[in-house]
Amino acid sequence: MKPNQATYALVGNPNVGKTSLFNLLTCSRYDVGNWAGVTVEKKEGLIRGKRMRRHFRHHGYGHGHRCQHGNRYCDRCHRTIENHRIIDLPGIYSLAPVSEDEQVAVNFIFNESVDKIINIVDASSLDRNLYLTFQLLEMNRPLVMALNMTDVAKSYGFSLDTDKMSEQLGIPVVPMVTRVGQGLDKLYDALVEPAVTPEFQIKYNSVIEEGISGLSKFFNGNLAPTEYRWVALQIIEGNQELKERYIKQESMADAYQLLLSMSEKCKAPLADVIRDERYHYLEQFLADVKIIEEADRVNWTERIDRIVTNRWLGIPIFFVAIFLTFQITFTWVGTPLQDLLEGWFRGPLSAWVINGMVALDLQPWLIALVVDGILAGVGGVLVFIPQIFILFLIISFLEDSGYMARAAFLMDRGLAKLGLNGKAFIPLVVGFGCNVPGIMSARTLENSRERLVTILLNPFMSCTARIMVYALFTSIFFKSHQGLVIFSLYLLGIVVAILLGLVFKKFLLRGETGFFVMEMPPYRIPIIKNIALSTWDKGKEFLKKAGTIILAMSVVLWFLSNFSYSGMVEMSESFLAALGSMLAPFLAPLGFGTWEAGVSLISGFVAKEVVVSTMSIVYGAGDITTQLSATIQEVFNPVSAYAFMVFILLYAPCMPTLVVMRKEIGSWKWPLFSIVYSVGIAWVLAFIIYQVGSRLLL
Ligand code: GDP
Ligand code: MG
Repeated sequence: MKPNQATYALVGNPNVGKTSLFNLLTCSRYDVGNWAGVTVEKKEGLIRGKRMRRHFRHHGYGHGHRCQHGNRYCDRCHRTIENHRIIDLPGIYSLAPVSEDEQVAVNFIFNESVDKIINIVDASSLDRNLYLTFQLLEMNRPLVMALNMTDVAKSYGFSLDTDKMSEQLGIPVVPMVTRVGQGLDKLYDALVEPAVTPEFQIKYNSVIEEGISGLSKFFNGNLAPTEYRWVALQIIEGNQELKERYIKQESMADAYQLLLSMSEKCKAPLADVIRDERYHYLEQFLADVKIIEEADRVNWTERIDRIVTNRWLGIPIFFVAIFLTFQITFTWVGTPLQDLLEGWFRGPLSAWVINGMVALDLQPWLIALVVDGILAGVGGVLVFIPQIFILFLIISFLEDSGYMARAAFLMDRGLAKLGLNGKAFIPLVVGFGCNVPGIMSARTLENSRERLVTILLNPFMSCTARIMVYALFTSIFFKSHQGLVIFSLYLLGIVVAILLGLVFKKFLLRGETGFFVMEMPPYRIPIIKNIALSTWDKGKEFLKKAGTIILAMSVVLWFLSNFSYSGMVEMSESFLAALGSMLAPFLAPLGFGTWEAGVSLISGFVAKEVVVSTMSIVYGAGDITTQLSATIQEVFNPVSAYAFMVFILLYAPCMPTLVVMRKEIGSWKWPLFSIVYSVGIAWVLAFIIYQVGSRLLL
């Protein structure tokens, strides 16, 4: 940290807009999702951009005024523009963490010193949010409240008296609508004001109050007297870590006795007593500051929920929504657009590239590398841009509107019947985008064995990379039912995951399932800009991959497919053919026992999109897709194509996924084992599909 740098931490419940605010302040774009558990790690950034500049202008030191290091400098807040650091933490409900991501946030609050904590609260559900606020206030650290979602509160028919709140709590309270950037300037002004320590206290019953002063006698010298009260409260609430850190070793037994006698006097667990009193205080406070403007407005969220989370209708509606998503993505919009893009790729673009290279008089092998290697490999993947972006667009829409959280809720009901924890559904849904973040978001699960199971099941969620393969094959063999066929593959992945989950449960979990409390965010009409940003964010990863891994793999594959020990050879004599031939016998019973299929599977291990690149290179040499689809049509039939897609869906987690599994689990044992059983399952299912299918259908 630089000297003279101010640090602010964003603290609040999940799903109140912390990341949105972080993005606004730092001009960055992290994933914002309308559900809990999207941010699982802390992130930091510098406050920058237009807002900062406005601040400097506002305070009279705009362009030109610089400190001795040449940085823009403000006399009022004594900071340079580079010197405001902001940290986004995972959401917490209280200072008593239950899961690992919450632990990150709580540790940070207890152990790091920051200039100010920005407590962001959801104005529309203060009765839950303020609990944490009171705990933070009791720590008597400089605090600024960002009262977010005032628009939602308003739509519920109430507003809040922020002046009164500010006065009673002793901290600045800034009403905001982060989503549209409202209130940011005021927040910024509040941040740069000199920090004031709030003198907030809740008066507890006499037993607790006596306990607080009793405990402080046992403290070792590591604490400032101003911190006695909140540390004592934490210890009374059962915080072992702080107890060991701050109570003198020789007084441990006395402290224990004191807590025991307090608990006896209260006739209840002390944590419950304190919690109840805090809630009691909270209710009074809220009654004081809440201004009801309009009673009984129609609560749309409730009305919609009555239908979409209905016991009987919910699941069918969910499946219809998913089916429509695929239908729009593939059959209705995506594939026609893809055809256009492909035409351009195949026609004008490649002609232009080839002519250019011929004009430059390049070596023939170099031209072949560019055309048959790079253009075929990368281009073969890039033509799926329309589908990928449309799919991301729809998913972003579903997330931002709040529907995805309902889906999680519905699935929880289903999963609970099977004895699995519904909280696992979120990492699984994230896994549909990409398994890597999916596995990371399993950190929201408290129980480490459940977490392990959730991580292990994630690779069965059909990620977008696999879509590329489906799109290629379904556009050849199932042109008029693309949406339906792809939908069936997704379902298959889910069914396999559930069945495997049941097996794991039997051997790993043995009945210990945590409970799931998922909050339902209100429905929101998504903001186009948000959706566009989040679609772009997701899509960008795909483009990045095309420009890096896929490009590199295409070059490598081209060389391997054109060379052998004796130099440049026919493709069927190449290194690649030799490699693929080793796998072919193993794949023959599945209907695709060719060296080309074998090689695609090996290279798909690096990233599943590369399966498509490989096929474009080995089947389609010379042309990007006409010939590719013609060749595929020759060597596959609808049944073996389906078996191949099933194999791709299940066969093994890709390399980045394995690496992140290793990181999250902490050993290679499970990731390696997962390769074994996924290949096994993939083989058996593809075998059944091909053997049964070709007898029945062909
Ligand atoms: P976090 O979990 O606290 O990081 O919250 P996010 O920043 O991910 O936001 C959660 C959801 O609330 C997203 O759908 C945001 O678009 C939405 N949101 C954030 N701020 C506001 C606001 O002021 N008003 C409304 N209506 N929605 C908001
Ligand atoms: Mg967040």
